[in-house]
Amino acid sequence: MRQDTMSDIAGLIDTHAHLSMLLSRGISPEKRLEELFSGGFGGIIDIGTEAHDLADRVDAFSRFDRIRFAAGIWPYPEAIAGRRELAAVLEQQIRKAPPQLLAAVGECGLDRHWNKAEAGADIAGEGELLEAQLDLAKQYRLPVIIHSRDAAEETAEILSQYPEVRGVIHCFSYGAPQAKTFLDLGYYLSFAGTLTYKNAGPLREALRFVPDDRLLLETDSPFLAPIPYRGSPAEPGMVGETYRLAAALRGISQEKLKALAAKNTLDLFGLESLQSNIDS
Ligand SMILES: [Zn+2]
Repeated sequence: MRQDTMSDIAGLIDTHAHLSMLLSRGISPEKRLEELFSGGFGGIIDIGTEAHDLADRVDAFSRFDRIRFAAGIWPYPEAIAGRRELAAVLEQQIRKAPPQLLAAVGECGLDRHWNKAEAGADIAGEGELLEAQLDLAKQYRLPVIIHSRDAAEETAEILSQYPEVRGVIHCFSYGAPQAKTFLDLGYYLSFAGTLTYKNAGPLREALRFVPDDRLLLETDSPFLAPIPYRGSPAEPGMVGETYRLAAALRGISQEKLKALAAKNTLDLFGLESLQSNIDS
């Protein structure tokens, strides 16, 4: 049994979870969400990875009033190959979604760990898939949730071409110099359970470097469970471990960190409707 207490999870926000993937990892999302929200958990943004997955996720989870949704296309080789058709499908999903539930476009971005030029990946196509989603963010005035792995410079180069789009670099995986680059572009940085891993020195340095008004926290559930859960599937309640360490590294109380992360989530994603739930 879990030992959640009100003080542990109350007011925590997980800005990046893939709730529909929990079931395949042996976790019932409904049951866990009921436990979390009845304990005062602050909110979750449920993230899309495929062009057509938004409607099903809204059906499954919109009965929880502290969940909002993002819709985006992850840069899988198949998605890169089909980017024009899939961007059109994504736009349809965005148009049809209840506006008060749709928080962002994403996740979208560049992954040069999986998509390597030397292995024949379509690098130009990957960039175009990202640009198509930045175009949608601009058109529908939504923030973006950016995935960037082993591609800091290339990501920054593309984002710099969209100065009117705001967003977050999710599961930030770089060091302080790259943090500065993305902060200078106006982006928020979101830290995941990787912050708790042994080799996270540069990441921790980046965390200390981020100003109070640009910091977000997340799990990326079901991936990247924080220590001491590493090796198990992650679920949103585990974000508390990341808050605990982040507060210690920044030399502030967990309560202060909860308050500033909640404010930043509301500021970036424009979730006034979530605010009243967090206050209550
Ligand atoms: Zn993700």
